[in-house]
Parts: sequence; C-alpha cells; structure tokens
Amino acid sequence: MIQKNVPLKDYTYTKIGGNADYLAIPKSVEELAKAVEFAQKNNLPWMVLGNGSNVLIQDGGIEGLVILTTSLTNMTIENYTITVQAGAPIIEVSQAARDFSLSGLEFACGIPGSVGGAIYMNAGAYGGEIKDVCTYVTVLTSEGKIEKLSADQLGFDYRTSLVPDKNWIVLEVEFELEPGDQTVIKAKMDELTYLRESKQPLEYPSCGSVFKRPPGHFAGKLIQDSDLQGVQIGGAQVSLKHAGFIINKGDATAKDYLNLVHHVQKTVKEKFGVELEKEVRVIGRA
Ligand SMILES: Cc1cc2nc3c(=O)[nH]c(=O)nc-3n(C[C@H](O)[C@H](O)[C@H](O)COP(=O)(O)OP(=O)(O)OC[C@H]3O[C@@H](n4cnc5c(N)ncnc54)[C@H](O)[C@@H]3O)c2cc1C
Repeated sequence: MIQKNVPLKDYTYTKIGGNADYLAIPKSVEELAKAVEFAQKNNLPWMVLGNGSNVLIQDGGIEGLVILTTSLTNMTIENYTITVQAGAPIIEVSQAARDFSLSGLEFACGIPGSVGGAIYMNAGAYGGEIKDVCTYVTVLTSEGKIEKLSADQLGFDYRTSLVPDKNWIVLEVEFELEPGDQTVIKAKMDELTYLRESKQPLEYPSCGSVFKRPPGHFAGKLIQDSDLQGVQIGGAQVSLKHAGFIINKGDATAKDYLNLVHHVQKTVKEKFGVELEKEVRVIGRA
C-alpha cells in the first residue's frame, strides 16, 4: 500500500515537484489511519495532499510520508445536506448540488481542489466561500481521534482555517444548502465558468492565484501595473492572460517558480509599497 520514492509532479497542478520518500493512497478512513500509524511508528514526518492545486512542491521532494486523499470520494445527499469525503473534487460536489437543485455551491464550480483542501484553505470565488455552506467537519486529530466539529470550531478566515495549526486531517464534510431552481443554478455556474475560462490561463499548469488579495488592492492589478506580465524565469512565467497567475511553460522547476515569486514581491513592494503574501503553500525540500 505504501510506495517509495514517488514523483509528486504527477499529482500537482503546477506539474512541478520532486519525489515523496513515501506515498500512500488510502481507499478508506481505516487505511488512512494506518498510513499515519506507519509514519508515527517509523518516526517519519507526514502530510496530506488533496488535488495538489494549491501547493508548490519544491524540487527536493517531500521528506517522509505523503498521504493522498483522492480515493476518498464517497458522497451522499439527503434533503438539503451533502455529506462528502475529503478527497472528492469540490467541482463534482458543486455539480451534484446542481443536479439535486440545491443552491449554495455554485461559486465552487471551477475550483480545482478537493473538499479537504477547500476546507483547509476556506476556498472561495466570486463572492462565495466554503465557510458559508459548511456546517460540520469530521477530522482525524494528531492524537489519532476522530472528531466531528461544527464549522465555528474550524476558525475559518480569508483563505485560512485552523486545520494546519491543529494538524487535523479532514476526513468528511457536511454542506448545508438551500433548495433552488436548477435552471438558475446551472445558469450561474455557466456564467462563472465562462468568466474563469476567459480570464484565467487554464491551458497551462499553474497553482491558481499565487498571492492573497492584499487589503484594499488586487494582487493581479498591482502585478499588471508593475509591468510584470510576461516576465519569465526559467520555465515559469507571469501569465499574460491573468497577472495573478504564474504558469509553467513546460519545464519550470520549483526554483524558477520561487525566484519569480520573489521577483514579483520585490517589484510590487518597491513600486507600490504593498507586501504580497503567498496564497500557494510552498512545501518540501529546496
Ligand atoms: C487554475 C486554478 C484556479 C483556482 N481557483 C481558485 C479559486 O477560485 N478560489 C480558491 O480559493 N482557490 C483556487 N485555486 C486554489 C486551489 O484550488 C484551492 O486552494 C483548493 O482548495 C486546494 O485544494 P487541494 O485539494 O488542491 O489542496 P492541495 O493543494 O492538495 O493542498 C493544499 C493544502 O491543504 C492541505 N490539505 C489538503 N487536503 C487536506 C485534508 N484532507 N486534510 C487536511 N489538510 C489537507 C494540504 O496539506 C496543503 O497544505 C485554484 C487553483 C488553480 C490551479
């Protein structure tokens, strides 16, 4: 069940990243708990990866065990409640809600993360956020206990939650939605998909918006006004289509990516005095 020395670029949206010393892809919560036990027994650090759409894994790979949740995808829908395992793509949950005429997850129809990653990041788009619809989250604690927490125990804030601080593994999530008109829900999702496809460089590997929105500004606008679009280091380029994205033109390394991130931060700081904070999680060995 546990593989050794596995390239992680196959599991990330940037198509960048060195090897995991060990990789587990559990098919059940029991297997996931066993993978954590394996790491603890062997004194290995461990971390969870969902869809790999908000991580930049460094070229030296990841020490210890990476637990990939993408096989944990069970979903049930009862009345207005969707209960779904952490590895399910949030896009599919949003589509299931539409198919059952449930409104509230339209905003998530183009966010390429897993449910667990969406909770970890309090993912959001076009005025909606995970915290608006999430009611309960079941986690595996670092002491090995399974606990069902209410949303207010998750400490959701702009693109953060308490998940990293508490070292929780998100196992399952409940979303409480509202009954809606399927035609209206579909029209909203089509509109958001059109906006995304026309504004974002989805034809290239990337990690989405690299930077958080600085208070009172838009990161993309600051980068654009700093004449940084098209600037390239190695295979990493500030997108010409959306300045907030850094794309992999084919052979970018994590080093290229990070050098470009630092160049953008430095230039924007010099020009506008604004600090751009990374939204993408940079992990692994340099
Ligand atoms: C083209 C593109 C567009 C995007 N658009 C948006 C957008 O509109 N809005 C937005 O908010 N984000 C957006 N993102 C970023 C990303 O999709 C979200 O942040 C998403 O929530 C990350 O989920 P993931 O499963 O890919 O997480 P990963 O990248 O796999 O992991 C991110 C972090 O979450 C942790 N994690 C993942 N699963 C779990 C779990 N089960 N338990 C505990 N921790 C976990 C990981 O350890 C890691 O630290 C976009 C990304 C791309 C590539």
